[in-house]
Amino acid sequence: MVALLYLIAATLFILGLKGMTRVKTARFGNLTASSGMLLAIIATLIHIGKADYTLIVSGVVIGALIGTIAALKVEMTAMPEMVAIFNGFGGGASALVALSEIWFNIIENNSQLPAFKTTGTLWAATIILSILIGTVTFSGSVVAFLKLRGSIKGDPILLPGRHFINVALVLATILLGIYALFEVTVLTTLTTLALTISLTSLILGILLVIPIGGADMPVVISLLNSYSGLAAASTGFVLMNPILIISGALVGASGLILTQIMCKAMNRSLSNVLFGGFGAEVSEGVREYSNVKSFTPEEAALILESASKVIFVPGYGMAVAQAQHAVKELAELLESRGAKVLFAIHPVAGRMPGHMNVLLAEADVPYDKLIELDQANAEMVDTDVAIVVGANDVVNPAATKDSSSPIAGMPVIEVWNAATVMVIKRSLSPGFAGIKNELFEHDNTYMLFMDAKTALQEIIKELKS
Ligand code: NDP
Repeated sequence: MVALLYLIAATLFILGLKGMTRVKTARFGNLTASSGMLLAIIATLIHIGKADYTLIVSGVVIGALIGTIAALKVEMTAMPEMVAIFNGFGGGASALVALSEIWFNIIENNSQLPAFKTTGTLWAATIILSILIGTVTFSGSVVAFLKLRGSIKGDPILLPGRHFINVALVLATILLGIYALFEVTVLTTLTTLALTISLTSLILGILLVIPIGGADMPVVISLLNSYSGLAAASTGFVLMNPILIISGALVGASGLILTQIMCKAMNRSLSNVLFGGFGAEVSEGVREYSNVKSFTPEEAALILESASKVIFVPGYGMAVAQAQHAVKELAELLESRGAKVLFAIHPVAGRMPGHMNVLLAEADVPYDKLIELDQANAEMVDTDVAIVVGANDVVNPAATKDSSSPIAGMPVIEVWNAATVMVIKRSLSPGFAGIKNELFEHDNTYMLFMDAKTALQEIIKELKS
């Protein structure tokens, strides 16, 4: 019966993932996968049989409380950070479970390996792998969380000799791991080795993420996501639990696919992101601007009045301002006046994969009006007005023109090819990559220095009157 329940749960996970590939079915997909997880938990409890249920129920209650409160309270803009830290908790949990497996055998089994673990080396290997991947995921995700929150600067932190330190740490961890395989029967030694590996992995996670700068963070976040899956799968082998192996493998594989999509979006190879140290620090002086033209909502409304084709380009600022409903209202108003309106979505706009799609779906923007990067660039040429709503890095011409730029080679939305570009943002401050955007100095660019929601609402008011 347990095996059958596991099979149903695994099928629900796969159907859930499939559902989440489309906006229309995403909610259902989420629900399907959650039901699968509930079933998996029930089946596991049946499988365990006699256990300390007070402890299990307390864990479920505390975890559910933290999760529910966090999900209810989190601002839409803080969502990416929450995803990053929860990801890290997943990795951390896997590492802790693996560690506790050793202690369990020391305390409960009088330092004897249980009979079914006669293949002790394999058992120790899975424990070491869980601890290694889980701890790297944990500390790496904490750094990603702090970078996304702005508690650590987005610029890459490049330690001198960092490649040497990283290689030394990886080698030390591998050697300790191999040594642990020979010491598997002496559980106390295994504990010491496991704790030392936790420490080296903890440092490794931090060192691997701090040098990754600004615009390359999406790749790291999806990679850490994939690592958390691998850690869970590995813990599944430690506990001999098939559903944990399956769910971990699914997270690992889908995370890897997402990483590949993000690499393509940034036009980077994975090794380039991980070892390149992109996005070198930019001095404040390089960010100075000249020839910037600002205008008012009234002037913006005047230009829009005669526009027959308008493309909105949303970015992180739309999320901060929660301007998606105002964007939709303005789009409908322009359409009612006969204009063709489209929404150009850059794959790394915002702070998490699909961020803009989620916000526009929330505002009920029809999905067929959303266009991807390549189509957006083709459409831009005969567009009257491109309205950039709180986007910066994803519309930066330096990516195509300046080979020394930290975002060189990243495909961007070429808004400058539209007849007029309206950029709505509060100031000339840089985006996540921390670099200057020459778009703001172009002859056909007009800056509306306001909060995106307020600016759009004022334009709507002007157009209506
Ligand atoms: P950016 O981070 O480049 O720029 C956002 C802009 O929004 C800022 O320049 C800011 O300017 C403006 N802004 C902030 N608040 C408001 C507001 N209330 N009203 C109007 N404007 C506002 O965003 P993009 O979306 O263009 O690019 C995303 C960046 O984030 C890329 O570098 C990407 O690599 C990175 N990233 C993406 C992740 C993902 O998965 N999508 C994950 C991690 C990083 P001002 O302060 O002047 O208003």
